Order: sequence, then C-alpha cells, then structure tokens
Amino acid sequence: MNLTVADEKKTHHMKAFETVQLYFDRAADQLDLDSSMRKLLKMPKREVTVEVPVEMDNGSIETLVGFRVQHNNSRGPMKGGLRYHWDVDLDEVRALASLMTWKTAVVNIPYGGAKGGICVDPRNLSRKETERISRKFVDQIHEIIGPDKDIPAPDMGTNGETMSWIRNQWEKYHGFNPACITGKPVEDYGAAGREEATGRGCGILAFKLLKRLGRRPKDISVAIQGFGNVGSHAAKYMHESEFKIVAISDISGGYYNKDGLNIPAALSYVIKHGSLEGFVGAESISNSELLSLDCDVLVPSAIGGVITMENVDDIKAKYIIEGANGPVHAYADEVLFDRGTLVLPDILANAGGVTVSYFEWVQNRQYYSWDLNRVRAQLDSILSSAFEDVWTMGNEKNVSLRTAAFMIAIQRVRRATELQGI
Ligand code: NAD
Repeated sequence: MNLTVADEKKTHHMKAFETVQLYFDRAADQLDLDSSMRKLLKMPKREVTVEVPVEMDNGSIETLVGFRVQHNNSRGPMKGGLRYHWDVDLDEVRALASLMTWKTAVVNIPYGGAKGGICVDPRNLSRKETERISRKFVDQIHEIIGPDKDIPAPDMGTNGETMSWIRNQWEKYHGFNPACITGKPVEDYGAAGREEATGRGCGILAFKLLKRLGRRPKDISVAIQGFGNVGSHAAKYMHESEFKIVAISDISGGYYNKDGLNIPAALSYVIKHGSLEGFVGAESISNSELLSLDCDVLVPSAIGGVITMENVDDIKAKYIIEGANGPVHAYADEVLFDRGTLVLPDILANAGGVTVSYFEWVQNRQYYSWDLNRVRAQLDSILSSAFEDVWTMGNEKNVSLRTAAFMIAIQRVRRATELQGI
C-alpha cells in the first residue's frame, strides 16, 4: 500500500520530544542555524532517572520511577514543574524540559529549562503516601536541584503542599532557603498571585491578541477545555474581562450554554464538589464536542495532544490559546496555520506561571514580599513585551506565532551560549 504524505501524517504518532524538535527545526531553518548549534541547543544537558521506593499505608512497598531532565542552563538556573501522572515517561519529561528552555527565553526571565515527574496515579494515593513519595524523590535528586541550579514548581498532580514538603526535605540537606522551589503556599514563602498566574496569563494574552485584531471581548465566544488550575483561572479572568464563555469542561465532561455560562457559579461549584460533575445551567457535551464548537476562541488547558490530524478538520475556532503544554499535534499545527487559524503557542500562552514563579524566587531571595497588585502589574508588563516581540516577528517573517516564539527564544539562548563559550 502506498501512503501519501497526508496519510503518513495521519498515521504517524509523533512522540512529545519529536514534536518539540520539529517546532525547533522550523524556527532554526528561518534563522539559518547551523547543524552543530542545533545539536547543542536541542540535546538535554542532563537526564536523571531514579528509583522511588515507598511504603504504602497498608504496609506494602511500591517502587516508582522518577525523572528530572535538565535541558539548558545558559540563561540561568534551570526551572520547571514536577508532574505526578500515570503517563509520565522520560520522553515526555524531556519534551517538557526543552519547552521550559524556550518558554523562559520567550518571556526573557533569567532561567533555563528543566522538568521532572513521577509515573504514578495521584488519585490512588493518600496524602501521607504523596508526602513520602515526594520526600523520597528529593532524597534521590537533592544534589542536582537548588536555588542556583534547578528550581522545581508544581505541575499536573502536584500543588503548593507538595512544594512545601519538597522544600522541607531539601532544606534538611542544604539548610534554610525557600528559593529552592516555587509555587509554595502563600503562607509558606509563596507569592501572592502565583496560583492564578498561568490562567490569568492566558486571559491577558487572549485580550492582547484580540485587541490587536480590533475585536472586542464582548463579541467573542470562548470554549475552555479543563477547569483545573489553568482553565478555571483563565475562565475567571476572561469572564471578568467580558468575554462570553460558552463552554467549559473537565474530566467529567463538557458544559455548554450558547448565551454564556455563569462562571462565578461554576467556580463555586468546583470548590464545593471537587469537579464540574452535576453542574446545572448548561447543556452536557463531550470533551471532543467542546473542541469542535463553533466559537471564536478555544483554550485547551487540560492535557497535551488533544488536537490531532483526526480532529483538526472539525476545529472551528479562529483563535487557539494553548493553556496546556503541547495540546496541538505538530502536523495539525501546520493545517491550522495553512487555514489561517491563529495559535498562540504554549511557550508564550502559559508562561504566566513561570513568570510569577520567577517573582516568587526573587522575593524569597530578598526576604521581601510584593503585594498582589505589584505581581499582577509586573506579570502584565512581561507578557505584553513578549507578546509584542512574538507578534512583530510573526508578521515580519510571515511565520506562525509558534515559529516566531521559537525564533526569539532560540536567538536568546544561542546568544547566551556564544557569549559564555562552550
Ligand atoms: P490541573 O490538574 O489543575 O487541571 C487539569 C484539568 O483538566 C482538570 O479540570 C481535569 O479534570 C481536566 N482533565 C484531565 N484530563 C482530562 C481529559 N482527558 N479531558 C478533559 N479534561 C481533562 O492541571 P493544570 O495545572 O491546570 O495544568 C493543565 C495543563 O496546563 C497541563 O498541560 C500543564 O502542564 C499546563 N500548565 C500548567 C501550569 C500551571 O501553572 N499549573 C503552567 C504551565 C502549563
């Protein structure tokens, strides 16, 4: 059987790291980056796989696998989240670590990129088991993380409490230094505004993009997939900015109202019930129906890989704001670009979180706290500059916003590498 290029693209299941490499290469081609510099910038600096043995509450012993990939540190200490999820493997962590290098460079904060994860289903763990796993993981990797080396933060399956355990365990080896980790609870050296920052950033950037295009939020309908940290804060900010949010979803399914959903009610519902399951005042739809709704803006903010060659032809939104990491498959991304759908890429769209993590690290190092207004104003300022850089590059070179964002990031990392020498 002879497969056409289009057929091959439909059947080829590209892995996460391969996807990031393809995005990198598209931008590197535009920059005429030579092959030796490409190899140097693509390859992770260090990859660590560790055994995480843990005693469960019933006395049995589980042996888990944990990863930390440190991709690049030419612009500063490496930075990246820690994910507890059943799909975690070395390829995914490697992809997410490299995305962090490009993300911190796009928003121009003085960090490199890293990521970590443990392959485990956090829903099956008690709080005490999660704590023991987190502490054991730190026992295995404490030498390679720290405020000047590599600073972890929360990601899927981890939260502020996890960060407090990790900090406490790291400090047992290295002494007091809350800047060793970010995303901590506000009452434990965390930063005001960190929790809302990623979703708020998605909203800020959606607002800027549409303003550029002369569109007013109240004429814009929005569908948001995922109602966790990122999706719920994106919904809150966009609702407050007068966008019409017609659909939201979580793992329990989607909720749709063509006249606009009552977002404050949905936020309170989730606080009370733990998920959107049973939320009224909306029609039930599936997550795949949500993705193909006839709306202006789609914000995929749940998991990666949700827009593929199989469903890209059904996507009707004109603008996609990537709240999640890697929600669009690389080939589907080409189709969207050719069709004129504007995709605001993850390395810019969800960079609000790492930006406020940076503010948290700065505050910890100065033993001084900023108030929420200062955090929000600085976040707005950093994201605005990054948006202008990416928008200008995209227009000047006639490339997608993703390629433009990668081009800016690669130039900054390359320059830092050249200045310091190999
Ligand atoms: P979260 O665990 O708080 O929320 C995830 C949400 O997605 C939940 O509502 C969950 O029910 C829903 N969900 C899970 N699986 C789903 C599925 N198969 N279909 C539909 N919905 C599903 O996670 P989060 O922190 O909001 O992260 C979401 C995404 O954003 C991830 O890709 C993460 O890497 C990325 N991200 C998060 C941050 C951050 O600061 N939290 C920063 C940058 C990027």
